[in-house]
Amino acid sequence: MTSKSWRSLRIKKYQFSLRLFLFLNLTSSLFSMLSPVYHVAAITLPLMLIMLTSTGLLLGHWAWAERKINIPAISILFGCLWAWHIAVKSPLMPQPQFNYLVIALLSVLFIGAIAFSNNIIAFTLHSLPVLITCLVLGDGDQWLRMIYCFALPVIGIAIQSVIQKRNDNFAHGLMYKLLEERQTLNDLSMLDPLTGLYNRRGLQNRLETLMTLDASDHYVLLLDIDYFKAYNDHYGHMMGDQALIQVSAAIRNAVRSRDVVTRYGGEEFMVLLTSTTPECAMQTAERIRQRVYDLKIPHMFNHSVATNVTVSIGIAPLVGEDIEDALTKADKALYEAKHLGRNNILSSATLQNA
Ligand code: GH3
Ligand code: MG
Ligand code: MG
Repeated sequence: MTSKSWRSLRIKKYQFSLRLFLFLNLTSSLFSMLSPVYHVAAITLPLMLIMLTSTGLLLGHWAWAERKINIPAISILFGCLWAWHIAVKSPLMPQPQFNYLVIALLSVLFIGAIAFSNNIIAFTLHSLPVLITCLVLGDGDQWLRMIYCFALPVIGIAIQSVIQKRNDNFAHGLMYKLLEERQTLNDLSMLDPLTGLYNRRGLQNRLETLMTLDASDHYVLLLDIDYFKAYNDHYGHMMGDQALIQVSAAIRNAVRSRDVVTRYGGEEFMVLLTSTTPECAMQTAERIRQRVYDLKIPHMFNHSVATNVTVSIGIAPLVGEDIEDALTKADKALYEAKHLGRNNILSSATLQNA
C-alpha cells in the first residue's frame, strides 16, 4: 500500500510539472501575441503552434490523465518552436536586436526554471535550441551574457536535482525499512516469545491459509503437561520456563514441518496434523508423548514418587472447517486421558465408542 502511494505521488508530481509547463507556454505565447516586445506584433506560425499545442495537450491531459506524456519530448518540441519563433521575429526588430534576443532567451529560461525546477534534462532540452538560435543571431559581445543567463539556472537546477534525488532515495530507503519492520513485527506478533511456537494469533493465520489451500483430513492434538503446577511449586518458575522450552522443542521435533504447533495456553499445546490419517495421528501423538518422556526432566510431583515431566494428549479429527468443535472434542479426550492417569493419549473416537 505504501509503495503504491509512493508511486502515485511520483506520477502526480510528474503530471503537475507537465501541466505547469504547458500552462506557462500557453500564457507566454498569448502574452507575446497580445503585448509584443517593442510593439512589433508578430503572430508567427511557431507561436500559433505553441498556443494550439499547449492548449490541446492541456485539455487532452485533463481528459486522459492516465496517459503518460513524455516530458523530454515535449520540452524539446516547445524549445524548437520558441527558437523558430525567435528566428522569424528577430529580423523584424529595430536594430540592434540583442535586447530582444536576451529578453526572449530569459523568458524561455524562466518557463523552464519554473516548471522543471529539478529536472535538468527537461530544462536543458527546452532551453538549448533557443540559446543556440540567440547565439547565432546575436553579436559576439553578447554571447557571454547569454551563456551566463543559461549556465546559471543549469547549475542551480543540477544541484536541486542532486538534492532531490538524495531526498527521494532517503525517503525510499526509509519506506522499505518501515515495510520490512512492519513485516517483522507482524511475524513476531504471531509467535510465543518463550517457546518460539505459534501463539493463537499465529494459529488463526495458519488455519486461514490451510483451509483455503487444503481440504484433506486434518487432526487436532491438545497436549497438557502433567502436574505442572506442582513442578513450578517445587522447582520454581524459572525452571518451569526451561521445562516448557524443552517440551516445546520436543513436540516441534516430533512432527512434520507442515504441521502447526501452537502454545495454546500456559502449559497447553495444540498441534494441527495436516493431511493425515487417524493411524498416523495416533502414531504422532505417541511419538510426542515418548519424546517428552525421554527428555527425562525430573519431576517429583509428590514427596513419595519421583518421575519425569510428561504430557497427556487428546486427539480429535478436524471436520470441515469446524476448529471449535475439534478443539472441544480434543479437550474432552484430554480430560479423560488425564483421568486415566497422566502420561496418556486418548482419541475422541475411542471416547465415543466407549
Ligand atoms: P494437570 O496434570 O491436571 O494438568 O495439572 P497441572 O498442575 O499441570 O494443571 P494446572 O492447570 O493446575 O496448572 C498449570 C500450571 O502451569 C500453573 C502455572 O503455574 C503453570 N504455568 C502456566 N504457564 C506457565 C509459564 O509460562 N511458565 C511457568 N513456569 N509455568 C506456567
Ligand atoms: Mg492446563
Ligand atoms: Mg497441566
